[in-house]
Amino acid sequence: MNKVYPIAVIGGGAAGTMATIRSVLNNDETILFPGSPKNKKRSRALWVSKVENMPGHLGYKKGIEEPNRESLEWLEKGNFSDKFHWMKNKGIDSIIKTKEGLFELTDNKGEKYLCHFVILATGVMDVQPKINGEISDFFPYANLQTIDYCLRCDGHHVLGKELAVIGHTSEAVWVGAILHERYHLPNVSILTNGEKSQFDEQANKLIEAYHFDVFYDKIEQIIGDPKEGVLEGFSMCCGELVARCEMAFVSLGMIVYNELAVSLGAKTDERGFVIGDHKTGLTNIDNLYVCGDLKANTKKQIYTGWDNAVDAADAINRIIRSQRREKVFSSY
Ligand SMILES: Cc1cc2nc3c(=O)[nH]c(=O)nc-3n(C[C@H](O)[C@H](O)[C@H](O)COP(=O)(O)OP(=O)(O)OC[C@H]3O[C@@H](n4cnc5c(N)ncnc54)[C@H](O)[C@@H]3O)c2cc1C
Repeated sequence: MNKVYPIAVIGGGAAGTMATIRSVLNNDETILFPGSPKNKKRSRALWVSKVENMPGHLGYKKGIEEPNRESLEWLEKGNFSDKFHWMKNKGIDSIIKTKEGLFELTDNKGEKYLCHFVILATGVMDVQPKINGEISDFFPYANLQTIDYCLRCDGHHVLGKELAVIGHTSEAVWVGAILHERYHLPNVSILTNGEKSQFDEQANKLIEAYHFDVFYDKIEQIIGDPKEGVLEGFSMCCGELVARCEMAFVSLGMIVYNELAVSLGAKTDERGFVIGDHKTGLTNIDNLYVCGDLKANTKKQIYTGWDNAVDAADAINRIIRSQRREKVFSSY
């Protein structure tokens, strides 16, 4: 507790790992909290399998977890090992600012740490659809990616296939429209799953122009082979195949893991994403930076998370270097 770490990174997904790599290679002592097993289980990082939209990733079955581990193990053994503290399986449960302006972090085991700067990269999670109040029926298909979430990551999987989009807002209709316009799909259905539809004028126009089928009833059953991930469609009643599809996309919004930021008084946008400076990720709280999916107004992608993680680490390094420089100047 007496030790003050210059930088703490909270979150060990795509962005947190990149923030750590950059900070350590900047020769700034950094402590990384990648999350408790509970934090990890509810993170996007864990659920991402093959990454096809970035060079160099095709060989990994788990496109975030595996390369992250590889790089952190390299960091742990290399020339900068004394600057890197990898708190495996530890997450941060609470964070406060001390009178001295430091951050005091408490981990999931109740241990406390002090630090000057915090880079927050706790991410988001996609809202899951439910059947009879449960989300588990969707998992086998999601794991084999016949049910997908991210248009930019996995949209190309729909090529030549019949598609269903699960969602009740105009955004869901736009997902269907974008995929249809890109890949000329034979058929698109929108499934509101019993929710009241919130389609605006433009969405209704798209539904009509592209002949989308809209199903308003609750989904009763997924029809297909969950072991093989083969999707045939959805039933709304009596086990009958009603909405035929070979692939589905979920468009129900995101849960933003902003609790730590909010507890410090950091500003968020209307959807809960944490607002950080465009160039550096600095929030309205001194020395608190945000990066990755958690940051407002960014593409929710690995490479975007990497880029704004590097921006945050370099901005902190600039401050640390300028403080050192001032000391050198004042000693003349
Ligand atoms: C199914 C799917 C497929 C995707 N495919 C691609 C793709 O092909 N290409 C692409 O570019 N993007 C893809 N994405 C998007 C990509 O997953 C995200 O953009 C990326 O993971 C964001 O990185 P992040 O570090 O912000 O969050 P995450 O990678 O989700 O990491 C969040 C981290 O925070 C940790 N954490 C949470 N709470 C705490 C806490 N209290 N204390 C400590 N740690 C905590 C978690 O353990 C986790 O390590 C996909 C997303 C999904 C859902």
